[in-house]
Amino acid sequence: MKITPHDLGTFLVSSRSRRGQYHIVDMREATCSCEAFATRGTCRHLRAVLLTKTNLAERLRSRPAMTVALIA
Ligand SMILES: [Zn+2]
Repeated sequence: MKITPHDLGTFLVSSRSRRGQYHIVDMREATCSCEAFATRGTCRHLRAVLLTKTNLAERLRSRPAMTVALIA
């Protein structure tokens, strides 16, 4: 699954079932443009983006703590 930054807070996620198609995931609204999201309120695209974004946030959060630890 390929995640491409699209607009502010939105990502294009490649569709696995339909080649060449993309779904638009909105991070701020926690929505996806695919059919699975429309029926279930969640989908693998949204989860993939949230996971990636969370990991990124974790990394950024851990950075100042590491700096503090080095100085102390
Ligand atoms: Zn989706």
